[in-house]
Amino acid sequence: MENKRRLNIFILGTPFCGSTLLTNCLNSHKDLFTAGELNRMPAFKQFAHLRMNDPEIYTDKCFLCNQRQQECPVWSHSFVNEICSGGINFSIYEILAQRTGKKGIVDSSKDPGWLSKMRQSSNFKPDQTFVIHVVRNPFAFAYSWKKKTGMPVWKGAEIWRDINIRAIMTANHDISLPYLVVRYEQFAVNTETELKRICSFLGIEFSEGMLKFWEVPIHSIGGNASAYLPYLKENESLNVPKKWHEGIRHHSGRKFGEHVDRRWIQGLNFHEKSEILKISGVSDTTTLLGYNLADILKEAFTA
Ligand SMILES: [Zn+2]
Repeated sequence: MENKRRLNIFILGTPFCGSTLLTNCLNSHKDLFTAGELNRMPAFKQFAHLRMNDPEIYTDKCFLCNQRQQECPVWSHSFVNEICSGGINFSIYEILAQRTGKKGIVDSSKDPGWLSKMRQSSNFKPDQTFVIHVVRNPFAFAYSWKKKTGMPVWKGAEIWRDINIRAIMTANHDISLPYLVVRYEQFAVNTETELKRICSFLGIEFSEGMLKFWEVPIHSIGGNASAYLPYLKENESLNVPKKWHEGIRHHSGRKFGEHVDRRWIQGLNFHEKSEILKISGVSDTTTLLGYNLADILKEAFTA
């Protein structure tokens, strides 16, 4: 008999951790629907009466339908209004499962605070909830953070440490939820092995189709623009803010499963790399998340 058990899958992690690529793959599994960053729903509610032209603020479409200026079969205006009207709580996962006909809903909000909020819902179901913590090494994060915000790398390293520690604490306090760490650097090149490990964690069967995720339509809110490139046909292009262009150029034309983004190695100077290591807890957290620190340091300082 087919296992009909519902699955609610929370993705935790920092920005720039590569989670959009992973959640795109999960979406292409026949049992799963990637809803995207559901922590945006309160903003959807706040702006529901407006029609924004800003590609980053959209109120009734998923990322790709918004780019294509087409109606979204999942996130219609009336559906968004309906689910926001009663206040957003854990029932959103059940509603989405019914709407999409999938037993598993992937929430890629990444924010431990959002999971914490959902855990406090009166209808929270720990027995249906799984946590996948997607991580990337602290140097790579600090580099992306510096580029995006202009802030010094030591600040980025602190943010990296704090989000990751909070993610571990949120998944594992009170009732510990089933919890799996996925390291971007491994996922990017050992994709099939990593997807099999994730499927086994979730109790679902791996399918070859997950390696061609772009063949299954996705209706996901938010996420990293460059991870949506494989979905585009030749005559389509992403209409996104200028600040995303460099990242998109870097990823376009690169084959999925054969490329790790290592721009941080050249992008950070010696002093910046040293500063990151001086932040208390960064080395320990790196090790705690399953990295071999010696390997990362070799990569960082022999470039
Ligand atoms: Zn859509």
